[in-house]
Formats: sequence, structure tokens, C-alpha cells
Amino acid sequence: MTDDGVNIVPLLIGIIALLLFVVLYDWYKKMTINHHEVYFVMMGEPQCCNPNDANASPNNNCRKYCMGKLLKKIMDRINSAKHSICIAMYNFSNHRIADCVLRAHRRGVKVRLIIDKSMSESNESKTQAKRLKDAGIHVKVSGEGDKLMHHKFCLIDGTTAKGLLLTGSLNWTYGGLSKNCENVAFINNRRVKHLYRDAFDHIWNKYSVPFFRERA
Ligand SMILES: [Zn+2]
Repeated sequence: MTDDGVNIVPLLIGIIALLLFVVLYDWYKKMTINHHEVYFVMMGEPQCCNPNDANASPNNNCRKYCMGKLLKKIMDRINSAKHSICIAMYNFSNHRIADCVLRAHRRGVKVRLIIDKSMSESNESKTQAKRLKDAGIHVKVSGEGDKLMHHKFCLIDGTTAKGLLLTGSLNWTYGGLSKNCENVAFINNRRVKHLYRDAFDHIWNKYSVPFFRERA
């Protein structure tokens, strides 16, 4: 009791409880953040930004199914990677995405790449696998004969709250980003990311061998 007879104890308890609630709610939001997006590209749709044009500048006014916008989104996400990138990609021949992966590796991001064995031997995709391997990135191949490593997913900072899973139909090729119907979902659900990380590690540890191609 204060001199004027007002008991401030309940008031203090109320303020502390409110502060505690705000802090805990903020923490809960960070832990359960669910920011998902899905991009589709469509064959036959008029395009505003050619993904093969390095000077294209996709923006908010882009058409709904703009292929340049999807490429930019993928590149932006790789460029913002801070800790790790795990890529399981059946075919990977797009040099602009490979440039981003290479830059991530050079700034200290731990990059692991698994590509399909038959694709790694084809002329189209070997360039990026070999290039990335020669730069010091861990590259492995998986699949044997007609058993393909057919995944197309990528985890960017997959073990962190802000990390993202990219998954869908798109191979990181020029064809996929210039003429096909494709979809890519950007997902940051913790549980889903964990399941993909688990599957990635399983393939990495059990069903892949180091990519080997002699330096040119
Ligand atoms: Zn566009």
C-alpha cells in the first residue's frame, strides 16, 4: 500500500504479464513463421521478361506467369543464403543459377549438390556440375541406369527459422525456364523443411557417389 492508499502491486503484475505475453508471442511467431509462395510458368503465355536475357528486370508489374520473375526469385533466394544450400536437381544446366550458387560458396555458405548420374554425363548439364566441383563445391551423382535421381528441390538455410524449401517440377535448365509449364513452391514450414533435409542427407550418405570428371 502506498501512502495514498493505492496498491500498485496488481498493476505491476499486470504490466509484467503483458510484457511477457508480448515477448513470448513474438518468439512464437518467429518459430512458427509460415511464409509460402507458389510460382507457375506456362507455355504459350505471353512473357514480359525473358529469363535468358541477363538485362531483364522483373518487377511487381510483371505478368502472373512471368518466367523471368521466377528465375529472379530463385536467384534472389540463393543470393540471400547465409549458412547452407542443399540441392537435389535431376538436371542443372542454367549458368545464371550456377553463378549464384558459386557466389554463395565463395562467401562461405556450405553448399552440397546432388545431380542425376545420367544427366551429369550429358553434354547439357555436365558444364555446371563440373564447374561447381572445380570451384570446390561438394558435388555428388545419384541414380543408376533407368533409376533416376529425379528430385528437383533445394533447401536454403534449411535448418534456420527463415530458411526456405524450393520444390516443384522445375529443373534448373534453360528449357524449364523458357518453354515449359512448370511450378515451384517456396515453403518455410519447419516440419516440411526437416523432412526434406532428412531425405537429402539420406541420398547424400547412402545413394550417391562423388562426381568425378577430369579437369579440362
Ligand atoms: Zn516479367
